[in-house]
Amino acid sequence: MPVGREWPDQNCCGLVQIVTIELPEPINTADGPLRVGCVAGNAVLPGRVDIAVIGGGLNGVMTAYWLAKAGARVALMEKGQIAGEASGRAFGWVSNLLLDPVKMELCAQSKALWAQLQDEIGELGYRRHGLVFLAGDGDEAEYFRSWIGSVDDPALADADMLTAAAVQARFPGFSGHCAGGIFSPSDGSAEPRLAAVAVARAAQKLGVSIHTRCAVRGLDVGGGRVTGVITEQGVVKADTVLFAGNMWSRLFCGNFGLSVPQLYVMTSMGRTGTVPNGPVGAGGSHEWAWRRQPDGAYSVGRLVGQKAPLTRDSIRLFFEFVPALKAEGRNVSLSLNEDCRRDWRRPRRWRLDEVSPFERERIIDPVIDETVGQTAFEELSAAFPAFAGTSMVEHWAGPITITPDNMPIASPVEALPGFHLLTGCSYGMTWSPALGKMMAAIMTGGTPELDPKPFRFNRFSDGSRLRVAQ
Ligand SMILES: Cc1cc2nc3c(=O)[nH]c(=O)nc-3n(C[C@H](O)[C@H](O)[C@H](O)COP(=O)(O)OP(=O)(O)OC[C@H]3O[C@@H](n4cnc5c(N)ncnc54)[C@H](O)[C@@H]3O)c2cc1C
Repeated sequence: MPVGREWPDQNCCGLVQIVTIELPEPINTADGPLRVGCVAGNAVLPGRVDIAVIGGGLNGVMTAYWLAKAGARVALMEKGQIAGEASGRAFGWVSNLLLDPVKMELCAQSKALWAQLQDEIGELGYRRHGLVFLAGDGDEAEYFRSWIGSVDDPALADADMLTAAAVQARFPGFSGHCAGGIFSPSDGSAEPRLAAVAVARAAQKLGVSIHTRCAVRGLDVGGGRVTGVITEQGVVKADTVLFAGNMWSRLFCGNFGLSVPQLYVMTSMGRTGTVPNGPVGAGGSHEWAWRRQPDGAYSVGRLVGQKAPLTRDSIRLFFEFVPALKAEGRNVSLSLNEDCRRDWRRPRRWRLDEVSPFERERIIDPVIDETVGQTAFEELSAAFPAFAGTSMVEHWAGPITITPDNMPIASPVEALPGFHLLTGCSYGMTWSPALGKMMAAIMTGGTPELDPKPFRFNRFSDGSRLRVAQ
């Protein structure tokens, strides 16, 4: 089977040909819900490494992988399990469609690296099967067309408009209405239940020391710079430290006085049973989205329905986030549920010799809004009758982090030499290969292939005019 290039979705007669790859079944552990297989951690915490990576999601494991390839001695600490949080719960799209032009180079490099990693490491569930957005009416089709025009380099956008007839030809089972669509042939998806775990195991083979159920309580600091990390299992000395802890970044850094302008929203979605002859690849409309998984089932969800818990941080940072919230519009609503209460109960300050919030919540267990997956499923079933023979078999939720300009933070932190951040990724499934490679180059004194400037941390403090990048 050709990997990393084409998903063998259709045979020569246009019939869907399902290639089945078994995926791990989600389980409830004592630490929280887990959708991925476990990575066996290394037995002994090293006393000293070159670089300590905190967080075993896609961003952490990708960075560790590239660091190991560059010859660095690396330890990666994860408070729960590898891909236990956002990275095991993503929808799985690897896409640049309709994103701000400033993100095109990042997406293009990432797509190329996903293919490279799949060839190097093995099955990550990555397929370049193309991705389509259907337009509900002429205005939406016009918006798609203007987006193509807004990207200077058409090769980076890699998108074409489809007529309604072309949509029908690509999806013979589609019985809904659309006014055409936009299609990127080089977009695709990776499988969240496989990818991060496979990259972590590959990094481990290259020598990365991986420690699960090993929360980092804080930084070891001396002489005005980072000298290591203080974990629940002991100290690991390192002159260079990366925090890739996603929704926990603001809490972790706040304990030593560093303000990271980041909030999180909780997003719910779900999964159907197997759907023979369902739509190929991945796609969506403003009401629903699908991704055919490698096991022949479908991840389904919606852009609308994201919940922003009313937290101390969302109150404190409200004015900084008004432009980003306006841009998200009807997709996000405020929530006052258990996610919110849990956040208010978390201590903001702790000593490094006492149990930290990270040991108390090893795997985040957010409130799941089952109406999101169910509504998407019902609307998809109306558009694609092939879904009628199945039902929803799983619902889940996970955190998506946002910054005031909707750009990731991937950068050294100048105020604390040796310390680095990789966080605030709303599209981290797509971006993690290139951001991880860029961070590895920065931390080993190499030359990054990606221009790091748009992702620098000090853009929030150096007087730069921020613009929300969709
Ligand atoms: C429902 C959903 C759908 C999504 N769909 C897509 C999509 O289709 N396409 C796309 O590109 N992106 C998507 N995303 C976004 C993408 O999943 C994330 O951007 C990406 O997974 C973030 O990776 P990460 O490594 O930064 O974070 P995470 O995967 O959250 O990993 C961070 C890890 O750090 C650990 N950690 C935190 N603090 C500590 C500490 N003190 N000590 C030790 N460990 C710590 C946590 O336990 C966690 O495992 C989606 C996200 C969600 C939730």
